[in-house]
Amino acid sequence: MIAFFLSLSLSCSQNIIRKESTMTELLPLEKSIIHTDHNGLTQEEFANLKEKTIKAKDLSYSPYSNFRVGATILTTCGEYISGANVENASYGACICAERTAITRAVVSGFKSFRAIGISTDLKDKIGSPCGICRQVIREFGLNVSIYLFNVDGSKYFRVQLKDILPLSFGPSDLGLPEHDG
Ligand SMILES: [Zn+2]
Repeated sequence: MIAFFLSLSLSCSQNIIRKESTMTELLPLEKSIIHTDHNGLTQEEFANLKEKTIKAKDLSYSPYSNFRVGATILTTCGEYISGANVENASYGACICAERTAITRAVVSGFKSFRAIGISTDLKDKIGSPCGICRQVIREFGLNVSIYLFNVDGSKYFRVQLKDILPLSFGPSDLGLPEHDG
């Protein structure tokens, strides 16, 4: 969810970071797209994922955009592992929350994920993973559920990775087993 900052850095002054007006990846929170099911997560798991995802924003290092993003992975082992966006004065070195959470999970020994929660500080909109993050999530399973929360988790949107990254390229294309079987 950092890609729009990078594209802005190419088309705008380095010193100008716009937010909502240029965030083309944001989706409106309309009733018709709000899922109320939890796609296999129990009520407790969903509540935990939401709480930890929202809290993960406190980990954000985003002094340039002031746009905090938090992410939490729920592994198939039942572990919750959080990350946040980490920015850099050299914009190309910025890392999205999704990827810090995934990297943290992998180096902690977890490579199979059930779900990932993502949250911003937007009240009436939600953010969607950038292309790079979609590919990184895909490495660990086509069936990973992605929960996009608004600022306080009062609204959310759920998608599966395979739906937002069709015709994807992953481990099985190189002869390796998929992480989610
Ligand atoms: Zn991203």
